[in-house]
Amino acid sequence: MGQKSEAGLDDRFRRFGTVGFTGITRVNDFIAHLEEGRVAGTRCRDCGQVFFPPCADCRSCFSRRMAWFAVEGEGRLVSWSRLAFGPAGFQEDVPYTIALLDFGGYKVFGRVDRAVSEEELAVGLPMKVRVERLPGDRLSYAFVKA
Ligand SMILES: [Zn+2]
Repeated sequence: MGQKSEAGLDDRFRRFGTVGFTGITRVNDFIAHLEEGRVAGTRCRDCGQVFFPPCADCRSCFSRRMAWFAVEGEGRLVSWSRLAFGPAGFQEDVPYTIALLDFGGYKVFGRVDRAVSEEELAVGLPMKVRVERLPGDRLSYAFVKA
């Protein structure tokens, strides 16, 4: 799974989402977790702070000792928005809905699966994350009803 580019760079992150804005990060294992069907965040081994999107450094105590954890179980829908105009690279995808789920100790931002209709969405709705395989060997995740 450790795919390196010709330059020897670990650019796995290029496979994330419809449009890749960055290919090189210190959290490339995010892609390895997606490959295995998990959406993952990081947790600080020193102070316990949880991060999503994953961070390689703790913003609370500046530790670099981070561990991956899987986003599991049900989150509660906090907020959502239907996009009629897509940002650069996403124009072909509109309309789609972005949302924020609260998993207790952390929140996850992402897209609502197209199978979920706007009418079904309500504050507090239990939802979960599901890994998606996109054309062109790309990976992402979307929210579905729990
Ligand atoms: Zn910390």
